[in-house]
Amino acid sequence: MQILIVGAGVIGLAVARAAALAGHDVIVAEAADGIGTGISSRNSEVIHAGLYYPTGSLRALHCVRGRRMLYDYCVSHGIPHNKCGKLLVATTPQEIEKVEQIRAQGAANGVEGLEMIGGNAARVLEPEVWCIAALMSPESGIVDGHRFMLALRGDLEDRGGMIAFETPIERLERVGNQWRLFFAGREPGQLDVDAVVNCAGLGAQALAHRIAGYPAEQVPRLVLAKGNYFAYAGRPVFKRLIYPTPVDGGLGVHVTVDLAGRMRFGPDVEWIEHEHYAVDPSRANSFYARIRSYWPGLPDGSLVPDYCGIRPKLTGPGEPAADFMIAGPAQHGLPGLVNLFGIESPGLTSSLSLAEAVVTALAR
Ligand SMILES: Cc1cc2nc3c(=O)[nH]c(=O)nc-3n(C[C@H](O)[C@H](O)[C@H](O)COP(=O)(O)OP(=O)(O)OC[C@H]3O[C@@H](n4cnc5c(N)ncnc54)[C@H](O)[C@@H]3O)c2cc1C
Repeated sequence: MQILIVGAGVIGLAVARAAALAGHDVIVAEAADGIGTGISSRNSEVIHAGLYYPTGSLRALHCVRGRRMLYDYCVSHGIPHNKCGKLLVATTPQEIEKVEQIRAQGAANGVEGLEMIGGNAARVLEPEVWCIAALMSPESGIVDGHRFMLALRGDLEDRGGMIAFETPIERLERVGNQWRLFFAGREPGQLDVDAVVNCAGLGAQALAHRIAGYPAEQVPRLVLAKGNYFAYAGRPVFKRLIYPTPVDGGLGVHVTVDLAGRMRFGPDVEWIEHEHYAVDPSRANSFYARIRSYWPGLPDGSLVPDYCGIRPKLTGPGEPAADFMIAGPAQHGLPGLVNLFGIESPGLTSSLSLAEAVVTALAR
């Protein structure tokens, strides 16, 4: 098949690579002038173990499977990564119960090596942390997301695939046995292909509404949950990822370390109506309070506004978290078309596994 993938974020690139490996003729159309300029360059770059998601959900399945595939891929392709481990800390007796529930959920999802430890044992690992108990997750880690995307692009191009930059897809219609795509950009035009995968991230719903004949009631709503980060201006004190218990809409303001050992904090959850990427410095006030619950030594004036990313959620504040949505021919009845909706965290971790599922869904 000739397959067109919309979007060159980590998901589009992983799907394109998987389709090319399966022997298809692949083109990626990307509105921007480079790979990974959207959500994929605005995240925590954490390789999640797969703790939080209900067993049997797509997020649980693809996070655990995708994580194993991602570590193998990092090794085989020389991508900088660090399986540094993560402590999920409880700072009150109520939180111990919550952390224990997460441990049980993770174990049910097949996450390896999880262990509850006491506060003193946590301080042996991370002397600056304060907690009364913690869940140690040795499979959690960090990855250089951009190097990962470059490697996916390399694999795609090695198999004859290509990426057309500055090529926003405007609409699709079914013509005979094919999909006709209309694109804008510097050289607008149209192209007929056998199959299309919509990996447009925050643009996925807008594009789905412009697919002639696609059932409008099957396009989920898009809810924007911005996550702001603050960089830490001092000498790093943690070697591992340190997470508090999760909050509504996110995993809580956590410590991530990057591959250079620097620390940053975030992302928080800011529900917004329109896409924008300014980080409000006054949000630092709530960060200090939350971080000091598990790192009392956080000095005043040490947090500097950094970047932010926007989660493409399918549910809003107070509602249960939605699963990833892979809408293929089996769901909507149109041949040769897969729409991906709600690919928020752990999308980076899940990408290699999700990509295989999408290529399989296309064949149905
Ligand atoms: C704050 C935050 C933190 C996160 N942290 C983690 C983490 O630590 N670990 C983890 O596993 N996951 C994490 N995630 C999730 C992960 O980043 C995403 O799941 C993943 O990056 C989504 O990739 P994507 O390719 O779907 O979207 P994108 O990277 O946004 O790619 C979509 C692309 O489609 C293009 N596009 C849109 N419309 C069109 C069109 N009509 N025509 C052509 N091109 C189009 C856009 O320009 C864009 O390049 C986080 C997400 C957020 C927001």
